[in-house]
Amino acid sequence: MVLNTICPLCHPHDETSEHLLLSCSVSKFVWRYFAADNINTDQFFAGATTVKDVLSSWPKRKKDTFGNQLWSYLPFAIIWVVWLSRNEPVFRGKPLDFTRICNQIKSTLWFWIGGETKNPGHYFVNLITVWSSLVAL
Ligand SMILES: [Zn+2]
Repeated sequence: MVLNTICPLCHPHDETSEHLLLSCSVSKFVWRYFAADNINTDQFFAGATTVKDVLSSWPKRKKDTFGNQLWSYLPFAIIWVVWLSRNEPVFRGKPLDFTRICNQIKSTLWFWIGGETKNPGHYFVNLITVWSSLVAL
């Protein structure tokens, strides 16, 4: 039995958990998009090279606002959805789709924070259309 160790998202690299979730070109794009202008992802990932590092050093925010809730769950949602997205081409033969990945991260966050029931006055469509302003500092 021969195991394929090539990253199913970017292909030229071997698939390790750190590559897939943090340094893969696909993952980098996703982290950069969601971090918006809040952190410099190149600097952040230079100092956080493992999943544990990322989760423990993700910038904390004190105020309990809608945007800060999204921000605090964000690294977990990215990691979860990138993992699921890795499985799509491997097990279902589906092509990579950045828009689907980003929307799935947003819907995962929306579900995890309780949607409109727990966040009256906020709407899922805002996560889709004005993400960076929601998580802006
Ligand atoms: Zn890759």
